[in-house]
Amino acid sequence: MDVRERFQTAALRAFREEVRSFVRANLPEDIRRKVAQERMDLPREDQQRWHKILRAKGWACAGWPKEHGGPGFSDDHRYVLERELALGDAPRPMIYGEGMLGPTVMAYGTEAQKRQILPGILEGDVLWCQGFSEPNAGSDLASLQCKAERMGDHYVLNGSKMWTSEGHIADWMFGLFRTDNSGRKQEGITFLMLDLNLPGVTVRPILLFEGTHEVNQVFFDNVCVPVEDRLGDEHKGWAIAKYLLSLERFGTAEVSRSLASLARLKAFVRDQDPFRHAPEQRESTERRIAELEMELEALEITEVRFLFKQDGANEVGPEASMLKVRGTEIQQDIFELTMMCAGGYGLGARRDESAADVAATRRGQDSAYPYFNFRKTAIYAGSNEIQRNIIAKAVLGL
Ligand SMILES: Cc1cc2nc3c(=O)[nH]c(=O)nc-3n(C[C@H](O)[C@H](O)[C@H](O)COP(=O)(O)OP(=O)(O)OC[C@H]3O[C@@H](n4cnc5c(N)ncnc54)[C@H](O)[C@@H]3O)c2cc1C
Repeated sequence: MDVRERFQTAALRAFREEVRSFVRANLPEDIRRKVAQERMDLPREDQQRWHKILRAKGWACAGWPKEHGGPGFSDDHRYVLERELALGDAPRPMIYGEGMLGPTVMAYGTEAQKRQILPGILEGDVLWCQGFSEPNAGSDLASLQCKAERMGDHYVLNGSKMWTSEGHIADWMFGLFRTDNSGRKQEGITFLMLDLNLPGVTVRPILLFEGTHEVNQVFFDNVCVPVEDRLGDEHKGWAIAKYLLSLERFGTAEVSRSLASLARLKAFVRDQDPFRHAPEQRESTERRIAELEMELEALEITEVRFLFKQDGANEVGPEASMLKVRGTEIQQDIFELTMMCAGGYGLGARRDESAADVAATRRGQDSAYPYFNFRKTAIYAGSNEIQRNIIAKAVLGL
């Protein structure tokens, strides 16, 4: 049986139609266009605008329980919602608050912290970023050394965090800080949340190699963080970080986004016929597109098998590493093929002044950005080499 048949019930088919027409009617065209160009650097204002539209419909924070203002969807409904949003070129969710910190606060926060933090995320008013990595602590995260010294009812932060995505548009950061160096490196780490407007915080941009500003280095110079902005116990942040990093099982494989990207590539080849001057390349390209479609379908089936286990234990363990590796490889393959199809059009070259050529140039120029930008996906969220180590040890038992 095709495991995807589970999404073909009458109720889910009706829900799919509802999401499709909602997106068609409500997604602002300027935002849709940026997402269709695969932009990963959506401005804060665009992200908030779309989040608030979803919130008004009751679909924001799709994985959250009703108790905290989420829709309380079943996993099947959530899967269908996220698929249709991606296929409709809607922005990704604001992952750091909605997907990471929110559920972690629900699990580890005090009642006061839940009351203080969750509404800002739910309403899309407070944007968060993640301060885990440091210049000398990425794959080996537990080596982190950014210091938080306890001084009465405050921690005093000194050091820096590296590769902080959206640090320049976020209001608050959650992060891991070294509070004790005397034991194992996983001990003596504390999970703190801090307002990025505090005195002593400097956010410095790092431009990715295609020139966009998504990541930053954040410096702390005697920054005072109140003790009540600590999540969990002092020195015990490592367990909380592991919980937070295990949360995002939906979307790891990026199947829906890749389906949308592949559909765009097919439309480019069909409508702009970039091979009319090199017909010998058409057949091999069409074969490669068909291969990618099959690889994507296999990944989708694997994802559904992992996400919806027959014993009802909807927990994805180390298998999530396979989804991440294959998902990013397929994404990069799609953008590489798109770039190859664009050829000289990717550099703005024109063959003639025909309408087809003008359109091909416009579309071709869009191909360079994701080709370069998506190199990063094999590095962030745990590099693909690290994921392969996990697969070798925890899945294959090697
Ligand atoms: C675009 C982007 C956005 C990011 N956003 C954030 C963010 O918002 N917040 C945050 O905290 N971090 C973020 N990161 C950081 C990211 O998590 C780290 O870059 C990643 O964990 C790798 O760490 P590193 O850069 O220190 O590389 P290193 O750990 O130094 O690794 C260098 C190379 O060695 C390989 N390697 C390392 N150890 C092993 C091993 N044991 N076996 C085999 N190969 C190994 C790696 O795979 C990599 O190829 C982001 C990174 C990027 C590129």
